[in-house]
Amino acid sequence: MLMNFVNSSGMKKIQMVDLKGQYSKIKDAVDTSVLEVLESTAYINGPKVHEFQKNLENYLGVKHVIPCANGTDALQIAMMGLGLQPGDEVITADFTFAATVEVIALLQLTPVLVDVDPVTFNIDIEAIKKAITPKTKAIVPVHLFGMCANMEAVMEIAKAHDLFVIEDNAQAIGSTYTYSDGRKAKAGTIGHVSSTSFFPSKNLGCYGDGGAIFTNDDDLAHTIRGIVNHGMYVRYHHDVVGVNSRLDSIQAAILDIKLKNLDAYNAARQQAARAYNKAFEGQDNIIVPSGKTTCTGICDTCDCHVFHQYTLRILNSDRDALVKHLNEKGIPCGVYYPIPLHRQKAYMDSRYDEDDFKVTNQLVKEVISLPMHTELDDDQIEFITSTVINFVNS
Ligand SMILES: *Cc1c(COP(=O)(O)O)cnc(C)c1O
Repeated sequence: MLMNFVNSSGMKKIQMVDLKGQYSKIKDAVDTSVLEVLESTAYINGPKVHEFQKNLENYLGVKHVIPCANGTDALQIAMMGLGLQPGDEVITADFTFAATVEVIALLQLTPVLVDVDPVTFNIDIEAIKKAITPKTKAIVPVHLFGMCANMEAVMEIAKAHDLFVIEDNAQAIGSTYTYSDGRKAKAGTIGHVSSTSFFPSKNLGCYGDGGAIFTNDDDLAHTIRGIVNHGMYVRYHHDVVGVNSRLDSIQAAILDIKLKNLDAYNAARQQAARAYNKAFEGQDNIIVPSGKTTCTGICDTCDCHVFHQYTLRILNSDRDALVKHLNEKGIPCGVYYPIPLHRQKAYMDSRYDEDDFKVTNQLVKEVISLPMHTELDDDQIEFITSTVINFVNS
């Protein structure tokens, strides 16, 4: 028991992600449902997978959810479904997790990395426009850290240039995008096709690996359902080269329970983000993840940020020393992401010009993600924020 406490005040040990605390609140339902699957022996493509698929379609307001094995597969399969061909150029953000660019390269498409916006951390609209060539076939906006990219602008560019849009929605499930005319849509339902991940630490996470593809396009959904199942549309008839990528029934059973709580989970994250923001008010060298020029995501009228991560920019201070200091104080934190993709060995390209990545190059030196999950309490947030503020002002 003692090990769960960090200091004499009795504060609960701070974790980057508290999966155990969350599980303990849904344990009875999860255990019962998992045991049902075990007893049923319908381990692959059982009724639980179908139930979860339907419930997620309803939740998102999207016509088709196609479950698969993980978020990286989901991206790859989405691109396969669109029929992109080797040499086609796909524009995506330089500041994201490697999975996004990895699948582009794996399919022998040409990744074209572009810079991001310093306020939202999401793909920069002007940079997309600049990167378009006659070979460009798709744009992959990533809703980084839980904040929806500027989808209205992305879709406008795509329409003008006849490009596909594949949303990488691994970090923003449940977030709601508001168009300039007030219309709303869930992240992952705006582009031609989207992918998500159910990795345990994601906002909707299972207890293993899982992922899904979303689309409103009936034909594309049909194509993708075959691709995830060895390219079969009729049993033992293989019309296209496919893959084997499945969400198993146990994970679907867990996800179906967690889906019912997703809005509450995201609200808890937003509440923690609000408390962080408030504590950092007036700190000139700490930039909180909300901008004055764009939607903050945590105001009363919109819901576009679901805080997969709570990420600060630390100015005029040694970010790496802050990381070390926080760790010494028992505060876990993360640097997402420390190296721009265009400078990763696997994705370097002589066509890139460092001047085109000014924002990403700066962000990798400044960003720090603080503990963010559904179980944070006020004492923990007070301890974390005061420790950060003291360090930055010392
Ligand atoms: C987690 C993540 C993925 C990959 O998901 P996996 O389920 O781990 O394969 C892809 N893109 C982004 C932005 C992610 O955060």
